[in-house]
Formats: sequence, structure tokens, C-alpha cells
Amino acid sequence: MATHICPNCKEDSFTWSIDEEESSLTKWGCYNCYYIAWEDETLERVCSNCGKKAEFNLKDDTKEYWWCWNCCRVTPIP
Ligand SMILES: [Zn+2]
Ligand SMILES: [Zn+2]
Repeated sequence: MATHICPNCKEDSFTWSIDEEESSLTKWGCYNCYYIAWEDETLERVCSNCGKKAEFNLKDDTKEYWWCWNCCRVTPIP
């Protein structure tokens, strides 16, 4: 399975798994730092940095932010 740069520890260890109970949410987890975040699939958008439709809305226990899996940019949502 493909891995991406973890927004928490910046290692190439971030990957998703399907959660069948909450169909609109995808669970992302890092197997290096054990960081967990939830992606709302309905909010995917085009990244203004790299121009790809690769920016996901991620939410964890403390914050919500945009994260681009292509260029790794993180944009906090206030
Ligand atoms: Zn990590
Ligand atoms: Zn990007």
C-alpha cells in the first residue's frame, strides 16, 4: 500500500484504511508515530500550491486542517 509523508512526524509512513461503519470518513494512520486523523471524503479539493486535486480535509483530536498528499502542504483551519 502506498504511503505518504506524515503531517505529524514528516516520515513516509502515513497511510489510510477503510472504516466500514462511517462510510464518509477515511481513517489515516502513521505507523511511525501512531498519529491518527480522519478524512472527510466529501471535502476533497484542488491544492492551490501544486494544482492537483489532492488536498484532503483531515481532523484529529485537537485540530482540523487541509493536507495535500502530493506536495505535503498543511493548511490549518481556524
Ligand atoms: Zn507520523
Ligand atoms: Zn499540493
